[in-house]
Amino acid sequence: MRPQLKDVAWERVGDQLRLVYDPRDQLLLTDPEGTVEKLLALLREGGRTITELAAELSLPVTDVLAAVEAFDAERLLENGDHLGGLNAADAERHFSNLAFFELFGTLERSREDMQRRLREAHVLVLGTGGLNSNTLPHLSGLGVGKVTLLDRDTVDPRNFARQYLYRWDDIGARKVERAAAWVRSFDPSIEVEAIDTGVESAEQLTDLIGRVRPDVVASGIDQPARIDLWVNEACVRHGVPFVRGGIWATTGTVWSVAPGVSACRACVPADPTNPEGYDDPDDPALAGEIAAARLYFGRPHPNRGIGPVAGLLGALGAFEVLRYLTGFEPPAYAGRPLTVDFAGGCATSQREWSRNPACEICGRS
Ligand SMILES: [Zn+2]
Repeated sequence: MRPQLKDVAWERVGDQLRLVYDPRDQLLLTDPEGTVEKLLALLREGGRTITELAAELSLPVTDVLAAVEAFDAERLLENGDHLGGLNAADAERHFSNLAFFELFGTLERSREDMQRRLREAHVLVLGTGGLNSNTLPHLSGLGVGKVTLLDRDTVDPRNFARQYLYRWDDIGARKVERAAAWVRSFDPSIEVEAIDTGVESAEQLTDLIGRVRPDVVASGIDQPARIDLWVNEACVRHGVPFVRGGIWATTGTVWSVAPGVSACRACVPADPTNPEGYDDPDDPALAGEIAAARLYFGRPHPNRGIGPVAGLLGALGAFEVLRYLTGFEPPAYAGRPLTVDFAGGCATSQREWSRNPACEICGRS
């Protein structure tokens, strides 16, 4: 391991050093002898092992190791042995992705490790409509190496409020074929499979996930009513995380399930975002919310997903997929749906699902 300091700025303030990497945070280190500053300068040059650093500074290896671990805990270091491995074309193509991942890089996982992980990743995109036609471009821009797309619809004029993958000339064409063509023309290095079908059962999805073996599923299908339970069952059975987003009148929601870690969708017998297909809960307040949701969904409810709404939720979903794939931070919505209030300045709130030990899908007997 050869620790490499990120682009950290520092200045001396008397006996102290003020270090800044992320301007939200600053570190004040006591350094009366100037030893820490010398170590920082050597770490910035990089290319030295802990033993070599200790020898150069005439310090015990244990002291240098402790300092390096402390800097790593502040996310100031990457392992130089894990840098410089991308070819020039990939480094240029992913310049901003790498700059973003640098913020979260550590000795254990460098920015390039995260980019490589994306290149090796495979995402199953269920539905290329309002939500995922906004998620898919983000996955493509991030450099996900392979996507499998599933949809059963044709492009129609109503899609143009929020589905920018499609062109006016595509009206009447199969959506999944046009979405696949978009990905191929955006970045020919991305491998794409298009499946022109709907989802009719949990078994069908279980078979599909078993065949394509994705790392993550991005689910943007609303129908039939039990679709979320089917996706949940298939993903939990295979241990594959999934991310789901949707629009419900004046709110949008994004949530995910980390099998074996978070509550799954079936742990929550009912939820106002999908009142059908679940048992009524015992909690009177929640039962009231669900009764109201059932009345709402019982009336015709035109798709009110304007572009900014679908774009925001699609981007939040892509962010969650990115968390699963790179681990740059832990999944943020696993068993904790994020609600965005479109009637309240897009303020967000989160509601926690409890894991049900007796859950038929994820419970352990
Ligand atoms: Zn469960």
